[in-house]
Amino acid sequence: MKRIHRINFLDLKPGIHKYWFNITKDALGDDISVPIIINKSKKDGPIFFINSLLHGDELNGMEVIHKVMDFISDKLLCGCVVAIPVFNVPGFLQAQRYFSNGVDLNSIMPGKKDGKIHQIYAHKIMKNLISKADYLLDLHTARKGSRNCYYVRANLNDEKLNEIAKILNSNLILDSVPTITTLRGSCEAIGIKSITLEIGDPLKYQKGMINTCSRGIINTLSYLGMINEKVELFDKKLIICNNSYRIQSPEGGIVEIIPNILDKVNQGDLVAIIKDVFGEITHKIECPNSGIIIGKVNNPVVEEGLNLIHIGIPNKNK
Ligand SMILES: [Zn+2]
Repeated sequence: MKRIHRINFLDLKPGIHKYWFNITKDALGDDISVPIIINKSKKDGPIFFINSLLHGDELNGMEVIHKVMDFISDKLLCGCVVAIPVFNVPGFLQAQRYFSNGVDLNSIMPGKKDGKIHQIYAHKIMKNLISKADYLLDLHTARKGSRNCYYVRANLNDEKLNEIAKILNSNLILDSVPTITTLRGSCEAIGIKSITLEIGDPLKYQKGMINTCSRGIINTLSYLGMINEKVELFDKKLIICNNSYRIQSPEGGIVEIIPNILDKVNQGDLVAIIKDVFGEITHKIECPNSGIIIGKVNNPVVEEGLNLIHIGIPNKNK
């Protein structure tokens, strides 16, 4: 596979291209490169980015990218689709969420030219690749030890993002303005229309969610006129939330979470029981506000302050 360190999507020949894009150097002086897959049409149009593995253990997004790029290989009518299957290469190689120095890349975007190693790495990917995008979908999963439903985070005040969010075939939309230091936030700051997709659990390939999400991205490309496919909405009730909160563990111990993902919970419902290692119940946690379970821990061993449950609050007006 060809190695490059610079690219101009407008000058690129139409067709499929796969490259290693050089970002920085490792301790041996070898290139640390990210893989990129490009499908460019003969006709001008949007530059549409799909990114995954910003957190190095969130695998579902990579398979989504492979499926989508395969599906559109002979169908692109205009523009350019660029996929980065592995953003955080050092994290991916160590099967861990964080960068090689333990930093969460989704808290330091868009990086910094003369900064620390994680800032330089993020800056080079932003400057040379992602800053060229008109649209970006950033694919994630829950963190290690937790589970999520398939949900998207989008700013629904933006008319176009509002429409795209609703055809991604997710279970739930969390309407939110992004934090500036996330990839979504740093994209929004430079005018790139961006949505975060949370696709289930880390360190797994979950076929059902991968298929559902892939179809959602195909729907998006159809909606933008980049391919000519029917928008296929799966038969499920989309929940729109305009707020969410997390219940933290008041104490270390062994937790049992009562509700399942996507269950509706009411204020006062028993949602978690914590026992100590002697088998005594130390806490029974009641739900402080009604909502829908977006995610929860699946490792019962918890420390004080750990997020146990993520609850979305449905918006009755949207
Ligand atoms: Zn993530």
